[in-house]
Amino acid sequence: YLAGCFGNPSSVIPNVVTQNDVFNLLIFSKFHTWIGGACSLAVIIAGIALFVLARRYIKWRITVAYFVAVALMSVILNFAYPGGDLLLRLGFELLIGSSVFLAFFMATDPASTPLTHLGQLIFGVGLGVLTVLIQTYMGFLGGSILALVIMNLTSPVLDRVGKWKPTTESKEPKLPKAKAFAPEKVKTYECIRCGACLRVCCHKLSPILINQAFVKQDFDALIKLNADYCTGCGHCSFVCPSRIDLKGSVLRSKAMLKQQ
Ligand code: SF4
Ligand code: SF4
Repeated sequence: YLAGCFGNPSSVIPNVVTQNDVFNLLIFSKFHTWIGGACSLAVIIAGIALFVLARRYIKWRITVAYFVAVALMSVILNFAYPGGDLLLRLGFELLIGSSVFLAFFMATDPASTPLTHLGQLIFGVGLGVLTVLIQTYMGFLGGSILALVIMNLTSPVLDRVGKWKPTTESKEPKLPKAKAFAPEKVKTYECIRCGACLRVCCHKLSPILINQAFVKQDFDALIKLNADYCTGCGHCSFVCPSRIDLKGSVLRSKAMLKQQ
């Protein structure tokens, strides 16, 4: 792996690799052919800048939970196998291969990650734990990629974890500032699964899940999701970055339930 990373044409391959060489490589001069196999520091700076620019929609909790879980697992393994260098193990597990790129740009992919905050935290922790276990016991240095594929399979289950309990009581959410736009030019997009609509519903409903159940005409799901609690405030449609008519489909679901 190290030899592969020293493949950067501008780097000089030392005869004896010291701890400083390894950290210099992992943090600054990493260069390999996997996607994201570039300077870890630059990837971290670009990732944080993206979080700041789109903080309402990017699932930064996954990245934070992932790094914390990887660090804790490294410390645990260092105690389990005494005699190793804790700093090197931490650096290796946190920065190896494309794991930094994965933590910022792949693990937060909206389409395949959980909607709720608690689901996202569990997803990040699971990803970190699996990554270290795969790297340690299977000797697969791209462990984070395999771990991500496994954790993506858990998203439908994690969507149900941390979902608020729907209520008939109404609580006003904090909404972002309104932007001026021409209604006739509004274009809708596919849902990016940011989860923003869940967090602003004054009745703690899950507008996107109700919308999906409505499209499938899944009557049982609409009952379980309490679509009839909707009072049509429109907050969900207001915050949706994909401009989906959530309010319309939730109200139509409510009407459908009333007709039954
Ligand atoms: S329109 Fe209905 S589903 Fe949407 S935020 Fe308001 S109460 Fe919730
Ligand atoms: S429907 Fe809109 S607000 Fe809700 S998760 Fe999808 S993109 Fe986000």
